Amino acid sequence: MESDITIIGAGVVGLAMASQFANENTFIIEKNTCFGMETSSRNSEVIHSGVYYQKDSLKSVLCIQGNSLLYEFCERYNIAHRRIGKIIVANNELDEKGLESLMKNATLCGVNDIRELSKKEICAMEPNISASSALLSPNTGILDSHGLMSCYAALAKEKGANIIYNAMVEGIELISGGYKITINSPSGRESFTSQKVINAAGLHSDEIASLAGVDLDKEKYNLHYCKGDYFSISGRHKNSVNRLVYPVANKDSAGLGVHLTLDLAGQMRIGPDTAYLNDRRLDYTVNMAKKEMFFISAKSFLPFLEPEDLEPAFSGIRPKLQGPNDGFCDFIIHEESEKGLPGLINLIGIESPGLTASLAIAKYVKKLMDN
Ligand SMILES: Cc1cc2nc3c(=O)[nH]c(=O)nc-3n(C[C@H](O)[C@H](O)[C@H](O)COP(=O)(O)OP(=O)(O)OC[C@H]3O[C@@H](n4cnc5c(N)ncnc54)[C@H](O)[C@@H]3O)c2cc1C
Repeated sequence: MESDITIIGAGVVGLAMASQFANENTFIIEKNTCFGMETSSRNSEVIHSGVYYQKDSLKSVLCIQGNSLLYEFCERYNIAHRRIGKIIVANNELDEKGLESLMKNATLCGVNDIRELSKKEICAMEPNISASSALLSPNTGILDSHGLMSCYAALAKEKGANIIYNAMVEGIELISGGYKITINSPSGRESFTSQKVINAAGLHSDEIASLAGVDLDKEKYNLHYCKGDYFSISGRHKNSVNRLVYPVANKDSAGLGVHLTLDLAGQMRIGPDTAYLNDRRLDYTVNMAKKEMFFISAKSFLPFLEPEDLEPAFSGIRPKLQGPNDGFCDFIIHEESEKGLPGLINLIGIESPGLTASLAIAKYVKKLMDN
């Protein structure tokens, strides 16, 4: 077997790339029985607008580009989505300062649609939330991430790509003209060659880079697993809130603060929190002991909540380059010729906003391949 391009990982990022530039000699290798069984199906399904990230970082640029590309794509291919908007709320002086910084950052990054809401507007738009001040991000939305991945996979297949499930990549060896890739599947171990290899293995992307010969410590490619739990809110409050509602994130936090999300069926949830894990087991059990903390955090801006309204929902695990005591870390999306590995492209640390940015990441990787 021989391929031009091998993409490792059929999450939303691997599939977005395959949908945009696969050909009949492209393999997408996925260890699970179907696409999107890890981080890509365990997230808030929010189309972010890019207010949080450092100017000119890949997270910022690819989120902003990805936001419009994704809306266009959803329109074109009838993927369920809603541009419902998001409100970021403050209820004390410190958070009001936080809103000012967010507004400045958004403007600096080129997100020009974000605006301050007057008290009257807050009451008219969201009578059931509590906020002394707020910002509105009108271009934040929600989408059906499964539908999106299904569409990406169908487009990739139309282009002739071969998605191989139940196949675990276990070896990547540099050879003349490309790489020898060894996979383990129910039919046994086998190898094939590929001119180019794209590592979109999410939580395992550092291990894949290491298999190919990258020194993880030297390159700072080691991932930290950071779990986020969600609790769902009782259906009796359905339609109480019309938009996503976020508190001001603590500057030193690894996440955006426990916030309110809505899915396309109108189900309200709060989460995700941030909890670094000590091992690499993918344990998605929601920690019930956190219910009180979630309740207290959310009650500050959702005054109608009662403790019995919360039920454990699901969790996701972020593949983070940022360790517990680190500052902002950008996505790593890198062609590795300078490490003596030409034609290998590593995508490491693709946490949020990876879903929003998926099509912009695909464009960026295509450029790296063509150079
Ligand atoms: C709690 C949480 C909330 C989030 N909310 C949002 C949000 O609202 N909006 C947003 O834009 N982003 C969000 N994100 C981020 C987004 O979910 C991710 O950026 C995105 O899903 C990453 O996709 P991926 O394809 O890189 O990784 P994954 O979905 O993890 O896919 C990687 C694939 O590689 C496969 N794989 C790994 N190793 C191997 C191997 N050796 N052989 C074969 N296959 C392999 C895995 O099985 C997996 O299917 C959130 C993330 C989390 C955890």
